[in-house]
Amino acid sequence: MRVLFVSAEVAPFAKVGGLADVAAALPRALAELGVEVAIAMPKYRGVEGKTRLSPVGSVSVPVAGEEKMCQVLRGWLPEGKVPVYFIAHDPYFDRDQVYGEGGGDYPDSLERFALLSRGALVLAGELGVDILHVNDWHTALVPVLVRAGFGPARVKTVLTIHNLAYQGVFPWARRTALGLPESVASVLEHRGKLNLLKGGILAADLLTTVSPTYAREILERGEGLEEYLRPRAGDLVGVLNGVDYSVWDPETDLHLWANYSAEDPSGKAENKRRLQVELGLEPDPRAPLVGMISRLAEQKGFDLVMEAFDRMMALGVQFVLLGTGDPRYEAFFEKAAGRHPKRVAALITFSEEWAHRIEAASDIFLMPSRFEPCGLNQMYSLRYGTVPVVRATGGLADTVREYDPERGGGNGFTFEEYTPEAMLSALRRAVDLYLRDPEVWKRLMLRGMREDHSWETSAREYLKLYQKLAGS
Ligand code: ADP
Repeated sequence: MRVLFVSAEVAPFAKVGGLADVAAALPRALAELGVEVAIAMPKYRGVEGKTRLSPVGSVSVPVAGEEKMCQVLRGWLPEGKVPVYFIAHDPYFDRDQVYGEGGGDYPDSLERFALLSRGALVLAGELGVDILHVNDWHTALVPVLVRAGFGPARVKTVLTIHNLAYQGVFPWARRTALGLPESVASVLEHRGKLNLLKGGILAADLLTTVSPTYAREILERGEGLEEYLRPRAGDLVGVLNGVDYSVWDPETDLHLWANYSAEDPSGKAENKRRLQVELGLEPDPRAPLVGMISRLAEQKGFDLVMEAFDRMMALGVQFVLLGTGDPRYEAFFEKAAGRHPKRVAALITFSEEWAHRIEAASDIFLMPSRFEPCGLNQMYSLRYGTVPVVRATGGLADTVREYDPERGGGNGFTFEEYTPEAMLSALRRAVDLYLRDPEVWKRLMLRGMREDHSWETSAREYLKLYQKLAGS
């Protein structure tokens, strides 16, 4: 089985959100199962510092009205088992950011990702792959091209939707940049606009998304694309993302101040102590520390957090946030930290190191998402003994179960209604238990730490899907 996995983000080369983690961890897990898997992505600025690159050829693709010649360089995922093909086109990819500056997208995103898609198609032909696995709108053009006969004849396509809210929508007139006959371009039309994800949904041989609950939810409310998703319900599979424990495990995590595990969780307290010192919080080991690490986007429930903020602080918690994004939210949290310097810390930046430290130091991890296709941080939190408080939506509903005081089951706290009151009530249940009964809290923590959310099960599921497709 040969697979080419195509993604706009792949950790550690380029990361904006969860897509990057998945695009590295899933191919790695597939390789473990014996799949011959390679990755294709753009050669963004700075990649050369992260892997040894060797030129392996070039591809010429028609984008924006001309043939663009791109060098192809090969590097490797850390551990050296999965080759990564970097498609180089400096005018498009040698930039400061992956998608754009100041929260927006670069104005030529269409051309940038059309080039990635076209380039990946040529590469797939050269590598002789059976499956082209593409991800989100950036590469949703690939299945459209394959179906229209622009790709290798017998290749099958899988499109994974990591977030249906981002569809790659552009003015209809911009379709000329794709260099497609009108009959093919028409597949990309939705409500008078060019919509790349819509085309991919129609054209891919198989659709997957990143949790079973999100798969059901998007058939109900599909961000305006339900009319295309519903007829394909039989080809839409929800496969839960996993955790790459080679990157996210407190026992081996090099970013932490102290390592720890379910067998010996004592080091967790040292991480909390150091974080409080470094960020100038009250050095109080018993203050419930609530953490958030997130893109500061509306999807993530920040309206609830802002509305409930003072009431949340009145529960006696400390609060630490790491995130960048919408300037409205950035300003709110910076101001909140200014108002409560000893109890609130806001790191308005992107930092892998601090993401790991906050996972380890916090007692409670808050994810009140409006919607959440899968969510990774709640699963990281479980392994780090940081009890998740989440809104029961999408992948959060599939991974976090309400603590059951009667039978001692569950791994976190959940709420359903998208209101500040419902969120506060779940937080209050968590904080009360934390303050009242450290022994029971510890058992709750340890239950989460011992759960297995590794990629193996999900990778097997993907492999089965590939095999079925390739055999059909
Ligand atoms: P999404 O893909 O919607 O952003 P996920 O929960 O699936 O949400 O994945 C988010 C990933 O991005 C996690 O690995 C998280 O740690 C990381 N992340 C988000 N914001 C930051 C940040 N400011 N600094 C470091 N890592 C971040």
